[in-house]
Amino acid sequence: MESNDILISGAGIAGPALAYWLREAGFHVTVVERAPAPRPGGQTVDLRGAGREVISRMGLMERARAVSVEQRGMAMVNASGRFTARMPADGFDGEGMVSEIEILRGDLGQLLYEATLPDVEYLFDDTVTGLSEDDEGVTVTFEKAADRRFTLVVGADGLHSRVRSLAFGPESEFVRPLDLYTAWFTTTEELELDGWFQMYSAPGGLVASARPGRLPGETKAGLSFRSAPLSYDRRDTAAQQGLLERRFAGLGWHVPRLLRAMRTAPDFFFDSMGQVRLDRWFRGRVALVGDAGYCPTPLTGLGTSLGLVGAYVLAGELATAGDHRVAFENHDRIMRPYVQQAQQLPPGGARSYAPGNALAIRLRDLSMRSMTSWPLRSLFGAQFAKAGNIELPDYDHTAAR
Ligand SMILES: Cc1cc2nc3c(=O)[nH]c(=O)nc-3n(C[C@H](O)[C@H](O)[C@H](O)COP(=O)(O)OP(=O)(O)OC[C@H]3O[C@@H](n4cnc5c(N)ncnc54)[C@H](O)[C@@H]3O)c2cc1C
Repeated sequence: MESNDILISGAGIAGPALAYWLREAGFHVTVVERAPAPRPGGQTVDLRGAGREVISRMGLMERARAVSVEQRGMAMVNASGRFTARMPADGFDGEGMVSEIEILRGDLGQLLYEATLPDVEYLFDDTVTGLSEDDEGVTVTFEKAADRRFTLVVGADGLHSRVRSLAFGPESEFVRPLDLYTAWFTTTEELELDGWFQMYSAPGGLVASARPGRLPGETKAGLSFRSAPLSYDRRDTAAQQGLLERRFAGLGWHVPRLLRAMRTAPDFFFDSMGQVRLDRWFRGRVALVGDAGYCPTPLTGLGTSLGLVGAYVLAGELATAGDHRVAFENHDRIMRPYVQQAQQLPPGGARSYAPGNALAIRLRDLSMRSMTSWPLRSLFGAQFAKAGNIELPDYDHTAAR
C-alpha cells in the first residue's frame, strides 16, 4: 500500500462516511470543512436501499432509528390548507416519497461525524485553496492552515465543490442547472401539521413546505421556486431572503408566517438545484464522491444513498486495490450504473415538483392520488426502488457488525 495520508474536503454526509471507512481500513484521515462545525441545516433525507445498508454495516442503524422523524406521510394542500392529495408513509412498503426511515440531514451528519471521532482529524472553518500534484503526492494549501502534503485528496464538498473546481475545471462545465432554487430552515412556529409533511404549490412554480422536526415544537420549512439562472451573492443571506419575500409575497397557506420565521432562522440555507455530471470522477491523485461528483438533486430522494454508497465503495477499493489508480477506476466502474439511473429524474422532473400554473397543479395532485393505485403504482415504485439497485461489494474491513 502507498503512504496513507488522505485529505477529504467536506464534512457533510459523504465526507464523514468516507472518513469512517478509510479509518476502519487503516488510513490516516484529515477532513477540512468550511463551516465552523458540522452543518445542522436541511430537511429530512431518506435512508433507502443500499444507503440504508451502508449505515447498517457501520453499526449505526439503531442510533439512526433513535433520531428518525415520525411522519404520517406527505400531503399536498391548497391556499386554505385543505388536503388535495396525500401519500401515507406506509405506501410502497415504506419506500415511497416519504421513506420508512426519514432522518434530518443534520442529525445524520452529526451521527456520521461522531462515528469518526476521535481518530479522524477535522479542520473546521477552513477550505482548500490550491492543489499541486507530483509523483508522490499532493501539496495542499488552505485558507487558514499551513500547507500540508497528502497522498490523495477527495472532494466530498457538495454541489459547488471547491476540489472539483481546482482539479477538474469550472462548475459551469459539470453542473446542469434545474432552474429551481430552494431555501431550507428551521422554525418554532406552531403550524398544526398533524404529523404530515405538507406542501403548498402556487402558480409560477412556487412551492412552500413544512414538516414536523424531531424536537417538539420544531418545524422544518422549505421554499422553492422555478427560475432561469439567477446571479446572486452566495454569502449574502439577507439578500437571498429578500428575493424569497418578493417571490412569495401575497401567497396563502402558512407562507406569511414562514417568510417571517425565515428571517430569524438559525440554519437558513439557500441554493440552486443542479445535477453534477462528469465522465470520470478522478484526475491523478484527486477523486470526487457524493454530490461533488454525482449530485442527482434532492428531487430524486437518492443523493444521500449515492453519497453513502460512493464513500463505502471508494474506501473499500482504496483498501483492497493497493494502487489508487486502480481503486479510483473501480469506484467509477462500480458506481456509474447506480449513479446513471439515480440521475434520471422522477416523472415530470422539476415541473412536477413545482408546477407552473393552476391546471398543472391540479394534474400533479391527480397523479399523486393515483400513485398508490395501478398502473402508476409500478412506475413510481420503480423510481423509489432505485436506491437498492446496486450490490454492495464486501471488503475485509466492512464485515457487518
Ligand atoms: C445545508 C444543507 C442542507 C441540505 N438539505 C437537504 C435536504 O433537505 N434534502 C436533501 O435531499 N438534500 C439536502 N442536502 C443535500 C444532501 O445532503 C446531499 O445530496 C447528500 O446527502 C450527499 O451529501 P454530500 O456529503 O455529498 O454533500 P453535502 O451534504 O452538500 O455536504 C458537503 C459539505 O461540504 C462542505 N463544503 C462546501 N464547500 C466547501 C469548501 N470549499 N471547503 C470545505 N468544505 C466545503 C459543506 O459545508 C458541506 O458540509 C443539503 C445539503 C446541505 C449542505
